[in-house]
Amino acid sequence: MTAHDIAFLGLGIMGGPMAGWLSKHGHRVKVWNRTNSKAQAWGQKHQGIVATTIADAVKKADIVIACVGDDPDARAVAEAAYTNMAPGSLYIDHTTTSAHLAYSLSQATQARGIDWMDAPVSGGQAGAMNGRLTAMCGASNAVFTRAEPIISSYCATRVRIGEAGTGQLAKMVNQIAIAGVVQGLAEALAFAQAQMLDTAAVLAAISKGAAGSWQMDNRWSTMAEGKFDFGFAVDWMRKDLRIALEAASACGLDLALTKLVDSYYAQIQAEGGGRLDTSSLVKRFTVGVAKP
Ligand code: NAP
Repeated sequence: MTAHDIAFLGLGIMGGPMAGWLSKHGHRVKVWNRTNSKAQAWGQKHQGIVATTIADAVKKADIVIACVGDDPDARAVAEAAYTNMAPGSLYIDHTTTSAHLAYSLSQATQARGIDWMDAPVSGGQAGAMNGRLTAMCGASNAVFTRAEPIISSYCATRVRIGEAGTGQLAKMVNQIAIAGVVQGLAEALAFAQAQMLDTAAVLAAISKGAAGSWQMDNRWSTMAEGKFDFGFAVDWMRKDLRIALEAASACGLDLALTKLVDSYYAQIQAEGGGRLDTSSLVKRFTVGVAKP
């Protein structure tokens, strides 16, 4: 595989391990993080150079990859990057953002002769750590072909959905589908516990049938134990659902269940659970918010 000069911007729960995989795959990696101490810690663990400014990180890179927070963060980081990138280079954004931001950044980068791909991911912290993420990609065919070998360092599945912005729309589909499943699982578990059933026995009985899901296989037991430290934070889920609900409303769709689950996540946030993972919806039963 060809080694590239890659700048990675944003070393959070997701970005840190992704940048680590690029380095392990032999790329020349330069990292930047807003809080410099995190970048220094990354540099202690991995082969690569730590930059103190975005301009320094990107100026000699042929590929720049970002994974930050919300729309304003993704915009600020992209703008600071592409104004210092060379024509012919490629910008990949793994941040989950609105589709209109992705589209607007694709226009701005392309005007400078820079390729663009929005590539939000699923698979969570575990997927980032073990290099088994899924990327939903919005780019031309040619750009996707260029980007795919790079992101395959940490994405086991890469799917081109369509042109710029469509990666973000596919991620919204993913989050809409998850919201209802997690709430269904939380209600099922709360009911099993209220009936004082052996929840492990219930899991063994129902998980291979029509009730089964990834969430059930991976979260039922941890939810039963009250463990909510699995990476994808309620704060991020609310951001994703807000983006999805805005996009749905713009095309005239009323996503009633998504809205309801979003309001339940707002309750978890109000109880101080913004950094708990999304399966913490079940806490609404244990702390009494959902009791009649
Ligand atoms: P995180 O651990 O909170 O890290 C966020 C990163 O973004 C940090 O490096 C942070 O820098 C940086 N950042 C935030 N705002 C910034 C700004 N204005 N300027 C520069 N840097 C900024 O978040 P994460 O879990 O890695 O998530 C990152 C993205 O991936 C989000 O869009 C999230 O929705 C998405 N995602 C997350 C998961 C998951 O399971 N965690 C799964 C799929 C998708 P500091 O260190 O300075 O704060």
